[in-house]
Amino acid sequence: MSTAGLQVRAPSKKCKDERCPFHGSLKVRGRLLSGRVVSTAGSGFVVVEMEYLHMVPKFNRGERRRSRLSAHLPPCIAVAEGDTVTVGECRPLSKTVSFVVVEARRSA
Ligand SMILES: [Zn+2]
Repeated sequence: MSTAGLQVRAPSKKCKDERCPFHGSLKVRGRLLSGRVVSTAGSGFVVVEMEYLHMVPKFNRGERRRSRLSAHLPPCIAVAEGDTVTVGECRPLSKTVSFVVVEARRSA
């Protein structure tokens, strides 16, 4: 099965979503990020939070920072809050969505 040119596991389910990188025509290019799903309340998209370390030279320490983005969720990928997902950059799908979920790893 095609993985849309990505180093990910292709979803086992199929969907008819035009905005699916595996079964539709959505192209994934640019950044590939991974984060934690913090909200699945939206329809067709999820909120993904990423945590990163920002170094502060004055104190020679890092501080934890977080950022969130909305990512389109194709129907063939199932996620729950708390899951770790990989999102790929795509064309802007709406005002706030320009990433798409390409892989989900269940947190047991
Ligand atoms: Zn699909």
